Amino acid sequence: MLVVENLSVNYGAIKALVNVSCRVDQGEIVALIGANGAGKTTILNTISSVVPAAAGRVLFEGEDITRTAPHEIVKKGVCQVPEGRRVFAKMSVLENLEMGAYIRSDKKGIAQEMERIFHLFPRLAERKKQLAKTLSGGEQQMLAMGRALMSRPRLLLLDEPSMGLAPMLVEKIFEIIGEINGTGTTIMLVEQNAHMALSIAHRAYVLETGHIVLEGPAGELAENPEVRKAYLGE
Ligand code: ATP
Repeated sequence: MLVVENLSVNYGAIKALVNVSCRVDQGEIVALIGANGAGKTTILNTISSVVPAAAGRVLFEGEDITRTAPHEIVKKGVCQVPEGRRVFAKMSVLENLEMGAYIRSDKKGIAQEMERIFHLFPRLAERKKQLAKTLSGGEQQMLAMGRALMSRPRLLLLDEPSMGLAPMLVEKIFEIIGEINGTGTTIMLVEQNAHMALSIAHRAYVLETGHIVLEGPAGELAENPEVRKAYLGE
């Protein structure tokens, strides 16, 4: 579904990604794990075309989207939930969700999507009129995910969904990520919480200073002594 080929990204003199190749197959959850600054967010931002590639390419369903504008990429079915949520603070929950559907015009479909999202996140349903800035961190994460789902993505890019959340909420968010995947949405997941990421993902890549150093089935990586030492706190 998604193929990233020999991707390099620079920020001025900083080489954030060097010759990175990875893929996500239809139906999968693929995790990218690695330390702070390894380049995980840069991979997602380059797929979304928010950051330009210096070399290499990104293919979505066989089509080269490396130089496609970000809103066109959303139209093609790829939507990113950015790190730190970035909900529209002064808009209500309902308005934030409506914004997520901006590429669509099928009113009936949009209403059905909204119902699905309220079913997935009952907390949002109870807070439809509440301003986004008054939501808790976990609720804002739910809203950011709900807003992305309103575009009905086939590939959802999630950047650090567990960041700053209490352990119980982290479990809840991961449970919901599993449900979203269960209804047919393919997911690429960037996480510092390698333990949770490897427990939910089918496959994973380990990124170190802009290079992919390990890849494989998530279960195998979770047993790998190097991964256990560096990322699972053992
Ligand atoms: P984190 O988990 O801390 O977000 P990450 O693995 O997602 O880390 P990136 O955010 O992709 O890492 O950053 C990769 C490298 O690129 C880092 O060295 C970072 O400082 C640098 N970098 C990221 N964005 C920019 C930018 N806009 N300008 C300059 N350097 C940047």
